[in-house]
Amino acid sequence: MKFKYCPICGTKLEEKYSWDEGKVPFCPVDNIMYFDTPKPCIIVAILKGDKILLLKQSYIFKDSKVLLSGYVNNGETVEETVHREVLEEAGLKIKNLKYLGSECLESKEIIMLTFMAEYESGEINKSPEVEWVDWSNIEDALCEMNEDKIGKKIVKKVLKEIGYNGEKAYRCESDNSNA
Ligand SMILES: [Zn+2]
Repeated sequence: MKFKYCPICGTKLEEKYSWDEGKVPFCPVDNIMYFDTPKPCIIVAILKGDKILLLKQSYIFKDSKVLLSGYVNNGETVEETVHREVLEEAGLKIKNLKYLGSECLESKEIIMLTFMAEYESGEINKSPEVEWVDWSNIEDALCEMNEDKIGKKIVKKVLKEIGYNGEKAYRCESDNSNA
């Protein structure tokens, strides 16, 4: 976010030189620099045998299932965010968290940190924020996630990670989006 006025006190921001970042908007009243940084967000593919946990949240995608995601809070590590969000949104405990790289969502000023994990324990206990959450066959995931491009990219990475060498999982993908 590029601020012109201080979001705390409303003062017009000055430009202050930060030796490694150049000129940065600065509030002299609050003594805060407002760096134009994205919001960190986690997204995680949770596996249980040959199943994967998918959600429906129609405010994100009207007609598509998605992976579980959430924003990183101040004061927690990214790994803590993943465990907290999975517990909050689905009521599950996970293990063997593995980082799969990051994706930019520039239009929403989000940096997505992507993970896979294994189910450890618990029964699905849906948060009121979530419309629907359940296990899908991993071979059906790409078909059910038609609108979620980043989610599908993660599922493809997961299929590689687990050594999937079938073709069924990719049956809904056109040749060029499978590259
Ligand atoms: Zn201020």
